[in-house]
Parts: sequence; structure tokens; C-alpha cells
Amino acid sequence: MTTHGTAVAETDWERAVELVRGAGSVALACHVSPDGDALGSMLGFGLALRRAGVDVVASFGDREFVVPRLLRFLPGQDLLVEPAAYPPEPPLMITFDASTMARLGLLVPNAGKAGDLVVIDHHVSNTGFGSLHLVDPSAASTTVIVEELIHRLGLVIDRDVAACLYTGLVTDTGSFRYSATTPAAHAMAGRLIAAGLRPDEIARELWDRSPFAYLRVLGAALDHVTLEPAEAAGHGIVWTYVTRADRAAHALPYDEVEGVIDVVRRVDEADVAVVLKEADDGVWNVSTRSKGAIDVGRACTALGGGGHRSAAGFSSHVSPEETMDALRPHLRPPHPSA
Ligand code: AMP
Ligand code: MN
Ligand code: MN
Repeated sequence: MTTHGTAVAETDWERAVELVRGAGSVALACHVSPDGDALGSMLGFGLALRRAGVDVVASFGDREFVVPRLLRFLPGQDLLVEPAAYPPEPPLMITFDASTMARLGLLVPNAGKAGDLVVIDHHVSNTGFGSLHLVDPSAASTTVIVEELIHRLGLVIDRDVAACLYTGLVTDTGSFRYSATTPAAHAMAGRLIAAGLRPDEIARELWDRSPFAYLRVLGAALDHVTLEPAEAAGHGIVWTYVTRADRAAHALPYDEVEGVIDVVRRVDEADVAVVLKEADDGVWNVSTRSKGAIDVGRACTALGGGGHRSAAGFSSHVSPEETMDALRPHLRPPHPSA
């Protein structure tokens, strides 16, 4: 069953199936600071493999190895091992939702020594690292490609696998609001819901709950939000930041502030929304969103990060003001020949 474009060559699908079928054990990895698509695609595939009797480990290369609170409801957490316990030279390693080798963080050396390195991803900016590429920029999420691989392997999508794949699909389409929301995306959701998952429960876990402290920290962030209507070639920027001091004042963990961008980006007067979030180690993770006039993926790639045209990010080691000074000149309409 082909559920999306033909970006992946038939011979590459066949080779992937052959590699997985021939493997006694498979090591899975997704990008650092995993989001719903990264963890959902990796754990969904891992659960389907384990059900078929394959020996599976899964991980991501963060120095502080914690699953974001929002994603702890995902089935398959018991597949996870810390980077230190990951096979140093896995015969078969598969990466999920990582556009560059660097996005594997602490697992880069393991990937470098893998016998075969299969890359499953949907970023246009994918650099082509690895020895086999299941990369389809037209796929709404990495879980779209994983669903097809599971089918081609003849594996079963049970309720738990479906919950993982659905989570990647709904997070990367912004709950079927972004432009990647195609008939194929809805058709896939229909198949997964038919496997027995509860879309209402997953939506609540992902978007409709927070500790009370979140409201206080959101309040602080909204207190200093800035609108710059003339910036981004006249399309406008709205931006704010969340300091670790603000979070500490209310004992709010870093992984609770992911939703701030969804409040800020609704502003009519700006095409581009930016939220700078200070992690506990002082590094600023910058989230950017565009309504379509500006290519934030290209801007973030230019600053050492990456992402998609309408959702992207990068890391910064300087103040929010200085980071914005560096970002503004890159916020331009997409190049016609890009
Ligand atoms: P976020 O704002 O964290 O939800 O990230 C939005 C998208 O930007 C993600 O799905 C990634 O594709 C990409 N992204 C975020 N941070 C980085 C980074 N440091 N390097 C590369 N890509 C990133
Ligand atoms: Mn991702
Ligand atoms: Mn993704």
C-alpha cells in the first residue's frame, strides 16, 4: 500500500525490508530533544519489531536523558536505553526524524560505526547522511513513512503502535491545521483510530493539560512579548522569551514551555512567531513558526539549526536580543529558485 509520494525509490524500500528481516537485533535512534514525531516514529516502529520477536533498543542522544513530560504517555518507553548503554557498533541502526547526523547528539559515534545506517525522515533539509535513505519531504510526518515500512515488512499495527504513529502525525500537522494536512494524512489517521487508539485521550495528553505554574510562566512571557510589524520584509515578527529564572520562580520544568509558541503565533499582525526558551544549562532553544510568507526553515538552517518552511528551530548561546538581531536579516520570503 503506497500512502504518499514516490520520493523513496522502490529499490530502497526493498533494501530496507531486506535489512530489517535479516537483522537479529536493531538499534533505533531519534533526534535530540525528541518531539512527538521523533519519539512516536521510533517507539511505534520499535514496538512493531519487538512484537515480531526482534531484539530492539531505542534511544536519543541528550546529555540529560529524560522523555519530555508531554510524551510520557506514549507506549513503548521500556524500549528506551540511555546513550551510555547503546550498542557502540550496532550492525543495523535506524534513525527517525533526524535531518542531520548532528541531531543524533551523543549517539553520533554509534551511528558512525553502524554496519548499516538507515535514515527515515521527512525534512527537505535532510543532508543525506547514512547508507540507506527513506526520506520523503512530502510526508506529513516521519510516522507516515514508518507506517508504510511496517506494512511492507508485514508487521502488525496494534493499538499501541497506532498510538505512537498517530502522535507523530497529529503533532507534525498541528492537529491537522498545518499545510501538510492532506487527504492522505486524514486517511492515515482513520486507519490508526480504527486500530483502537483514543484520539481524545492523546489530544488531552499533548495539548490540554499543564501544571498551574505554566499559567504563571506564560503570563511572564506574554508580559514582555514584542510585535515588530515592519520586520520580516513587512510581514511582521512577534516574539518573546522564557528565562530559566522565570521557570525557577514557579518550579516549572523546561519541557512544560513547548506550548508557548502556539499562543504567540496566533497574532494576526505577524507572519513569523519566535519563542526563545532558556534551558537549565543556559542554552537558548529558539522555536520559529511562519504562516507561509517567510521560510523560517531556511533562516534557522543559516543559523546552525534546521526544520521545515513553516516550523523550525536553532540553538543560541547569546541573549534573546542578540539572537533576534542575528535572526531578523534571515527572515525573508522564500527564494523563487529555492
Ligand atoms: P520546535 O520549535 O522545537 O517545535 O521545532 C520545530 C522544528 O524545527 C522541529 O520539528 C525540527 O524539525 C526543527 N528544529 C528545531 N530545533 C532544531 C535544531 N536545533 N536543529 C535542527 N532542527 C531543529
Ligand atoms: Mn521532530
Ligand atoms: Mn517530523
